[in-house]
Amino acid sequence: MADVVDAVPPDATSSSSSLPAVRPDLAALDGYHSAQVDVEVRLNTNESPMPPPVGWQEALSEAIGTIEFNRYPDREATALRTALAASHGVGVDQIFCGNGSNEVLQCLLLAYGGPGRTAALFEPTYTLHRHIARITGTPVAAGPRQDDFCLDLEVVGRVLAEAKPAITFLCSPNNPSGRADSTDEILAVAGMDPGLLVVDEAYGQFAPSSALDLRRNDPAGTRHIAVVRTFSKTWSMAGARLGYLVADPEVVRALELVALPYHLDAVKQLAGRLALDYAAQMNERVAAVVVERERIAAVLADLPVETWPSDANFLLFRPTSKDARVVWADLVSGSVLVRDCSQWPGVTGCLRVTVGLPEENDRFLAALTESLR
Ligand SMILES: *Cc1c(COP(=O)(O)O)cnc(C)c1O
Repeated sequence: MADVVDAVPPDATSSSSSLPAVRPDLAALDGYHSAQVDVEVRLNTNESPMPPPVGWQEALSEAIGTIEFNRYPDREATALRTALAASHGVGVDQIFCGNGSNEVLQCLLLAYGGPGRTAALFEPTYTLHRHIARITGTPVAAGPRQDDFCLDLEVVGRVLAEAKPAITFLCSPNNPSGRADSTDEILAVAGMDPGLLVVDEAYGQFAPSSALDLRRNDPAGTRHIAVVRTFSKTWSMAGARLGYLVADPEVVRALELVALPYHLDAVKQLAGRLALDYAAQMNERVAAVVVERERIAAVLADLPVETWPSDANFLLFRPTSKDARVVWADLVSGSVLVRDCSQWPGVTGCLRVTVGLPEENDRFLAALTESLR
């Protein structure tokens, strides 16, 4: 005990009434913000525009009545993990669940990152990868993607050779650019000593291919590939905060070392397990979003904007005739909120729109056309 007290710097405890300073490596951090503006059409956070199936809501309401709320939940989340494993054709020992995929990412960095161990990533990409690395004290080695946001395998090779990372992140389909990395590209990265290669597939169901296929086809050769998925996007369940990992059992055991006991509450475990009974309805929603995505893309092609193909439920575009921040404000005036990425490195001048319901997309396209006229 005395050792622990001695380890605290004297200035952190100098006065009983003043708060200690926050960890110096966190002081410069800004947290994670997405502008919340009161509008009628919210197309800024890549949620599903559709609620989950009514049958699921009814089944969940009924099942909640069976929960013994005075007891801790199943610490192993056995029923949920068993159902997820069956849905992917893998063993239950290959599934780890978290409070949103963000908690899964945090557990990965707690288990495999930390001071003295590097995380590699390729930007522009999901900003939370870098953010959670910093929170966990993990140094980051970053390389750029190409101008069309595809991986530059030469850059990847150079970054990995220099950094010798414990963990490498890919995001496929990539947020904010929308495009999936091909299975060939992912395999190529897997062959470059990436450490644990984490493929964040938050939008995986919208994409033509998945790193899960690689794991299925060559389990021994892809032991170091871990795939992260979430119920937040495709499954219309952002409010439930549930994500999961499909990986080698050794990786799952490592994450169990750092997850807090009982971190998955009983309601969430039920919600996730019951949702898997509605996979067909979820797939219909995915198909509907893809149809709308292509409709929006076709309209954007005729407007003064630069766009890129998307394998996700959003589109990135860069107005070429007007400042992106002015366009963003015009859209807000039309009660349409999109994500302003115009100041983010690597996507300067860009906006990102989530695919919504057909009538919401109409509102967006009308407001955008008006702004750019
Ligand atoms: C939205 C998103 C997530 C989802 O995080 P949750 O914590 O599961 O809601 C994860 N990764 C990427 C790339 C995302 O865009």
